[in-house]
Amino acid sequence: MLAGRDDGAKVAAELHARLQKMDLIAAVTSQTKEVHSVVNKLGKSVEKAFVPDVCAATRDVKFDEATLNGVIAQHLFHTGKFRVGELFVQEAGVPGGEALKEPFTALHEILAQIHARNLAPALAWADAHRKELSARDERGAEAFEFQLHRLQFLHTLQQHGAVAALVYARAHFTRFQASALADIRRLMGCLCWVRRPMASPYADLMAPGHWDAAAREFARQCCGLLGQSCESPLLVAAAAGSVALPTLLKMAAVMAAQGQDLRTGEQLPMELELGREFVFHSVFACPVSREQSTPENPPMLLPCGHALAKQSLLKIAKNSGRPFKCPYCPMEATPGVCRHIFFPDAQ
Ligand SMILES: [Zn+2]
Repeated sequence: MLAGRDDGAKVAAELHARLQKMDLIAAVTSQTKEVHSVVNKLGKSVEKAFVPDVCAATRDVKFDEATLNGVIAQHLFHTGKFRVGELFVQEAGVPGGEALKEPFTALHEILAQIHARNLAPALAWADAHRKELSARDERGAEAFEFQLHRLQFLHTLQQHGAVAALVYARAHFTRFQASALADIRRLMGCLCWVRRPMASPYADLMAPGHWDAAAREFARQCCGLLGQSCESPLLVAAAAGSVALPTLLKMAAVMAAQGQDLRTGEQLPMELELGREFVFHSVFACPVSREQSTPENPPMLLPCGHALAKQSLLKIAKNSGRPFKCPYCPMEATPGVCRHIFFPDAQ
């Protein structure tokens, strides 16, 4: 026992001496110093990069809480978060929660099946809704159905071999001969490469990205039929807000320096470009009345090249055929020489 204790003391002393020789404390301190300075720098960079107070860019809009709750509930159902959505509807007392959820239930069930490599429900849905889909966009609907059948053909080829794939092609491709002949020929070429599809000239057809593309297109077609946008409107609004925020903050600072307040003005002092992903459809808004054009109040082109809504034009001309001055340039015109403009993509 005693000898052991002596040994122990000896080992401890030796260890102590060795540790001192290694100068561990100095090494650890110098390492943590480095970490500390990096963490410090990070904190400063974050402070510099983010504006902690974004209130300067918010406008004093009184939100209708019930509408906002409805939009949040719809967002949760739209993005497939059904349990959270149900709980939110219950706790926030959103009226008509079931009706908000219902359209998205089938959509997400079928999407989950596509992601699990089962196209049967999507094909059945496309078959059942062929008429409505065609009425919206005949070519698009046909291309969508062919996209699903093409994927099912390739899946059958990979899972069950060439004979099963050929049987599938015979049963389903005839309808698409006029619109997708070149594609069908390529798919038939795949039958010769069933053992080594990835070494074939058709390897691109086997890419897993085709499943995601089919899911996206299914969601687009389904949302279109439901009268819903493909992306959740709340998500789009939040994304657009975050894109616009830096410019809005700059604008607020410039206006504040001139004694103006961004939050109280009726309109933004300049237009904000958000980028193409936020452009959904074009509208014509009359620069005078600020109203969106309608078939009864269409955009009219003045000989000078400026455009107004018909009602604004008639108002300026005092409902007469007499000459009037364009509100944007010194040129004169009469209502008779103004032309109705058609914007093919505008609503
Ligand atoms: Zn003009």
